[in-house]
Amino acid sequence: MTHRVAIVGAGPSGFYAADGLLRGQPGLRIDIIDRLPTPFGLVRAGVAPDHQGTKAVVRQFDRLLSQPDVRFIGNVEVGRDITWDDLRKAYDAVIVATGMVIDRPLGIPGEDLPHVWGSWKFIAWLNGHPDFRRGPDLGCVRSVAVIGNGNVALDVARVLAKSPEEMAKSDVVPEAGEAIAAAPLTDIYVIGRRGPEHASFTGNELAEMGRLARAVALADPGALAAEPPADGPTPERLRKAKNLEILRGFAANRAGAKPLSVHFLFSATPVAIRPGEIDLSTGTLPADLVVTCIGYRGEAFPQGEGIFSVGWARRGPTGTIPTNRADSHAVAQEVLGWLRDRDSKNGPYPLPSSIDVEGWRRIDQAEVAAGAAQGRPRVKVTDWQRLLRIARGE
Ligand SMILES: Cc1cc2nc3c(=O)[nH]c(=O)nc-3n(C[C@H](O)[C@H](O)[C@H](O)COP(=O)(O)OP(=O)(O)OC[C@H]3O[C@@H](n4cnc5c(N)ncnc54)[C@H](O)[C@@H]3O)c2cc1C
Repeated sequence: MTHRVAIVGAGPSGFYAADGLLRGQPGLRIDIIDRLPTPFGLVRAGVAPDHQGTKAVVRQFDRLLSQPDVRFIGNVEVGRDITWDDLRKAYDAVIVATGMVIDRPLGIPGEDLPHVWGSWKFIAWLNGHPDFRRGPDLGCVRSVAVIGNGNVALDVARVLAKSPEEMAKSDVVPEAGEAIAAAPLTDIYVIGRRGPEHASFTGNELAEMGRLARAVALADPGALAAEPPADGPTPERLRKAKNLEILRGFAANRAGAKPLSVHFLFSATPVAIRPGEIDLSTGTLPADLVVTCIGYRGEAFPQGEGIFSVGWARRGPTGTIPTNRADSHAVAQEVLGWLRDRDSKNGPYPLPSSIDVEGWRRIDQAEVAAGAAQGRPRVKVTDWQRLLRIARGE
C-alpha cells in the first residue's frame, strides 16, 4: 500500500517538501492542505504586489499540483476543521508548513491605537488576503512611520511611495491602490533602532527606493560615517557595505526634489505612539500612520512521532523563498527515512468539505480574466464566500 503524507500549509516550504518527497519516492500520495481556498502562502499574500518577478515562483509550485498523486485540499484549517490527531491517524506522516505570521508587538505605549498596523495585516490587505479586507483609513495620512530595517519595511515604504502608474502592472487590490493614490502623503520615515551598518535590507530592494517617480529617498550624512562590521561572513559584509554606499547616495539627494520624501533614520528607538505622532529616542516625528515591520511569531503546533515541520514554522520567520528549498528537501529525506520499513496505516480519511485544485484553477482564471481587462496580472477575489462560490463553479 502506497504511503500517504499530509503537508499542512500550501506555502513555499510545503511545496518544496512535496517536491523533495517526490524526488525521493515518485508515486507517494501527497495531500497539501491549506486553510485558504487558494495556495502559495506568503508568495500570494506577503510578497509585495509590485514584485511580480518574485511571485513568478508559483509556476514551479503549480506544476506540482498537476501531478496525479498530489492533491490540493483548500479551505480546511487543521486544528479547526479537523484535529491534528485525526490527521495523524489518517496519514503515515504529517509535515507542518504553516508559517509564522502573527505581528510581533513593539512593547511601547500607544501601540494599540487604531492607526498602528503590523506589517502582516497591512501587506495582507494590499495583497487581498480574505481575512484582511479592511485597511487603514489613509484619507488624512500625510506622514507615515515605518518601523524596522528589513526588506518588509522597504516593501511597505515603497508601495506607499509609488505612483499609480508605477503600481499599474501590480496586483495590489484596487481599493488599496486607490486609497494610497488618494492619500495626501508627503513624508515616509523608515526607522531603524540600530546604525545603518546593521540594517538587513538587501541591495536591490534598497536601491529601488532611489528610483521612485514621485518620491525622493533621503538620509542624514552624519549617520552614515559607520563602516560595515569587520566580523561576519564576507557576503554579509559586502551586503552591508553596499547598503552604506546606496544610503550615501540618498544623503546626496535634495530634500523637496519630489512631492514625497522617504527619510531613512537610524539609531532611533520608538518610545511611545500618540495620535498623529511618534516619540523616538532621538525626538518626536509626525506620524498619522505607523506600520511596524519587526518580525513575526507563530502558533504552536503538536510535536510527536510522525510529525515533521518545515519552513518558517520550523526555523522561525527568517529566510527568503529559496531558503525554504534546501530546508524542506532535507526534511523530506527525514520523512522518507521514517516511512521506510513502515506499513501504510491506510487509516480512515476524515477530511471535511474542501476546495480541490480544479476549484483553485477556477479562482485563478477568474482573477486573471479580471486583471486582463485592466492590463494587470490579476485582480484578486478577496471575499471568502465569493472565493468559495467561484471555486465550486456556482
Ligand atoms: C510581508 C512579507 C514579504 C516577503 N517578501 C519576500 C520576497 O519579496 N522575497 C522572498 O524571497 N521572500 C519574501 N518573504 C519571505 C517568504 O514569504 C517566506 O520565506 C516563505 O513564504 C515561508 O514559507 P512557509 O511555507 O514556511 O510559510 P507561508 O508562506 O506563510 O505558508 C504557510 C501556509 O500555511 C497555511 N496555514 C497556516 N495555518 C494553517 C492551518 N492550521 N491549517 C491549514 N493551513 C494553514 C497558510 O494559509 C499559508 O498558506 C516575505 C515575507 C513576508 C512576511
